[in-house]
Amino acid sequence: MKAHDGMYIDGAWRPAAGGDVIEVVNPADEQVIGRVPAGTAADVDTAVRAARAALPGWAATPPAERAARLAALRDVLAARKDEIAETVTAELGSPLNFSQAVHAGVPIAVAGSYAELAATYAFEEKVGNSTVYHEPIGVVGAITPWNYPLHQIVAKAAPALAAGCTVVLKPAEDTPLVAQLFAEAVHEAGVPAGVFNLVTGRGPVAGQALAEHPDVDLVSFTGSTAVGRQIAMVAGAAVKKVALELGGKSANVILPSADLAKAVNVGVANVMSNSGQTCSAWTRMLVHRDQYDEAVELAAAAAAKYGERIGPVVSAKQQERVLGYIEKGVAEGARLVAGGTEAPREQGCFVSPTVFADVTPEMTIAQEEIFGPVLSILRYEDEADALRIANGTVYGLAGAVWAGEEAEAVAFARRMDTGQVDINGGRFNPLAPFGGYKQSGVGRELGAHGLTEYLQTKSLQF
Ligand code: NAD
Repeated sequence: MKAHDGMYIDGAWRPAAGGDVIEVVNPADEQVIGRVPAGTAADVDTAVRAARAALPGWAATPPAERAARLAALRDVLAARKDEIAETVTAELGSPLNFSQAVHAGVPIAVAGSYAELAATYAFEEKVGNSTVYHEPIGVVGAITPWNYPLHQIVAKAAPALAAGCTVVLKPAEDTPLVAQLFAEAVHEAGVPAGVFNLVTGRGPVAGQALAEHPDVDLVSFTGSTAVGRQIAMVAGAAVKKVALELGGKSANVILPSADLAKAVNVGVANVMSNSGQTCSAWTRMLVHRDQYDEAVELAAAAAAKYGERIGPVVSAKQQERVLGYIEKGVAEGARLVAGGTEAPREQGCFVSPTVFADVTPEMTIAQEEIFGPVLSILRYEDEADALRIANGTVYGLAGAVWAGEEAEAVAFARRMDTGQVDINGGRFNPLAPFGGYKQSGVGRELGAHGLTEYLQTKSLQF
């Protein structure tokens, strides 16, 4: 798609206040594929004013009509599916079939789920002698990352619009083109002017201005824990609501009764998909000591198969960061059994699918989020040891448990300090609440739980 040189504010593309631009680079060949304006506090202010002005009208729009706009939005996204996939492949680098199935497919499903929820959710309920109204929180400042660029936008904008909130979005600087495409889709779907606004720009400038803006009622942020912490402090000082979807370091726990080959193969695929840039990726594989050597062999073979198919990471900066972690793994004594720091191709920001064995829980690569195609395999002695290792990071976003019997896996999963666990390879559910325990965040996205993040209650007594 062709980049817009303006901001989508109050229903139209308008010139930015300043002249600064962001170059969008294709990480597969490092060519510049577009330029978008780098917004400033002045652009954010204009967008927030538009969102504030549109709020009373949209909040008072009957839920059935909001649902109709969301259904239209889903239909526009579905009609532009190929363009979405091509745009994400160009700016993020993921292979086209993955972009079609996931980067385009999931946001369409999520937009559809909120069209349905807007139509069916009980925005009003009776509690004894009270009527409780679930009202929109107000103007939402949404700040999103680049790793699932359209999904992250839709996971905030769709429930916010369903709830009757208005939105100002500041997308990631690496992937602004699909955000512009989304703004076009919102326009095409007939969402009234000012209800959704887009300000492209850099995090510490436009992002910070949005998080600090006094007329924003809720800041919904997805990104790193470091930035999330800053946003929470600013919001806390202003007594402003905040929703945070942050980092992860999830455990894939393979219990001795599990189908080892299946658990390892699915585990490797999970880490390598999207070039390892998935917040909920199971980057720590926990294997019983008696099965350890076999699991390492299986994982190394599985990772080697990804060598040809893996896309680049998002940028040269990200490539450098991931390679730095691989060097650190070697330096701290982990054993490299697949991949390494050697670039698999001459051009582009590629990282070899990498597997480390003999990783111990305190090593940096077992504690910090790498956000690249790097798997660490850890050894456990017994179930108590596995649980201690699984819960032994500051994060708690996701995880997996494999066992011969579902009940055994469920019993283990219930003791994990984490927000989502896949049992024996359970499938993604766009209606299941997604979000973190501990430093992985505050609040939940997706489904009805995601909708309630954008609502506040008022009770009238009779
Ligand atoms: P990031 O924190 O650097 O950036 C995220 C967004 O915040 C971007 O739009 C960026 O411009 C903006 N930003 C940066 N500094 C800011 C500031 N000072 N004030 C306001 N906004 C600012 O993260 P990233 O590198 O884009 O994304 C990767 C991170 O996102 C990983 O840590 C990953 O785990 C996390 N993530 C979490 C989830 C989840 O649902 N929990 C999902 C995807 C990604």
